[in-house]
Amino acid sequence: MYDFAIRGALIEDGSGGQSFEGDIAVDGGHIAAVGSVGASRAEVDAEGLVAAPGFVDAHTHDDMELHCNPDNGSKIKQGVTTVICGSCGFSAFPHAPGRPSPDFLSVDGWWRTYQEYQEVLTDHGIGTNSASFVGHNTVQRLLLGADSAEPSARALAAVCDDIRRAMDYGALGVSTGLIYRPGRHTSTAALTRIVATVSDYGGIHSTHLRDESDGLLNAIAEVASVSRETGASLQISHLKVIGEHNWGSLSAALDQIDRIRADGIDIAFDVYPYTAGSGPLATYFPPDDIDVTRARLVQIIRCPDYPHFEGWRLADIAREEGLSLRSVTHRLVTAPNADKTLCVIFEIHEDDMLEALSHPAAMVGSDGIPQQTGVPHPRLQGTFPRVLGHFSRDKGVFSQSAAIQKMTSMPATRYGLRGRGLLRPGYAADIVVFDPTTIADCGTYSSRADPVGVRHVFVNGKQALSNAALTGVRAGRVLTREER
Ligand SMILES: [Zn+2]
Repeated sequence: MYDFAIRGALIEDGSGGQSFEGDIAVDGGHIAAVGSVGASRAEVDAEGLVAAPGFVDAHTHDDMELHCNPDNGSKIKQGVTTVICGSCGFSAFPHAPGRPSPDFLSVDGWWRTYQEYQEVLTDHGIGTNSASFVGHNTVQRLLLGADSAEPSARALAAVCDDIRRAMDYGALGVSTGLIYRPGRHTSTAALTRIVATVSDYGGIHSTHLRDESDGLLNAIAEVASVSRETGASLQISHLKVIGEHNWGSLSAALDQIDRIRADGIDIAFDVYPYTAGSGPLATYFPPDDIDVTRARLVQIIRCPDYPHFEGWRLADIAREEGLSLRSVTHRLVTAPNADKTLCVIFEIHEDDMLEALSHPAAMVGSDGIPQQTGVPHPRLQGTFPRVLGHFSRDKGVFSQSAAIQKMTSMPATRYGLRGRGLLRPGYAADIVVFDPTTIADCGTYSSRADPVGVRHVFVNGKQALSNAALTGVRAGRVLTREER
């Protein structure tokens, strides 16, 4: 007798193959059988619904959310059961207690190492599973300061030692954020040393490229050369091309990626399904070099210094204040908490985004940045329903099976999450049940909203979402890098 069975679902097993009707039996937190299954103690009626492996969010900034709001409800409500953290060069560890990290994660707590951070998460429980990269920016800032330029050989060795320690505790690899400080000052030679540290473990280099605009191809060539040198697998974060004058040129980047793959380098990437980027305002607009044309595309979404401007376009703030766009931008990026001011920038073309997302090496990653106040970029709450509803069902950009593969087996395989990402006997019972006719994202850039259509979510065999309502059950686990 099984613990429970999901009956009569259209089963998308995550492999990208043909869907089929059947049942899923769960026992002891694992999938026991798929197809026509026997008696169970409890039943979930999934007639007319799709059952799929729980989604893996390939790129998140949920590091602090897992500590402050451990249910991670904004992900569970989308059907996400595993989040990949430590992205863009920033991780919750290593950490110096009492010294909140100076980046948008604003990390603080008693832990120092990845091992201690895992203890924190395990002690209070987490709603989703989590796995993490160690962030190069975080490590180097802690040791040498944010403005550390090229470290000495000895300092670089210390950075690599800290990265190695995180790898010993099961980090997936190292992430770099080459537009942030100190990553933007890191030379290709130093980057190669850093990435070589994780390639010894079979780890991955996940990178926010140095340039996603005019210099995109050079930026891809740089990290590909690092992988060629070190043998490390390469994951390009939130692949896109920004700036109106570059629209239409993403195909050149995809051609380049195809050539790199043909060359034998293990390269893949993630994409979020929106045409606006998001991040810290001060990173995009250094006070001494404000790009006014770009500032026209900006909306402020979080601003501790001027909370009443949250939700406003910079141009509207300028008009309201009777200031030029340059002065108002300057004022925001030089305010005391400018590091924590976040914005969205409408600078991606949908055709480029969809071309990237449709590529066989593309997986889905929200890149959402949790925030308690204001309105976050809608990708935080809507990414997965948007891919399935708006782009797969309504616009027919790709099949439902292909979309689900990009959210399940692809990232699970990529990150070495053994026994997850497929509906197969013996796999962990991370399962989402959703209504394919109604699933949709509902949030906008000016209002938060939960998605619709996701009915039930199971994490390690425990129900985290029941009839679209959070249960408060925290059955997630910290997943560490498997020996690959
Ligand atoms: Zn990034």
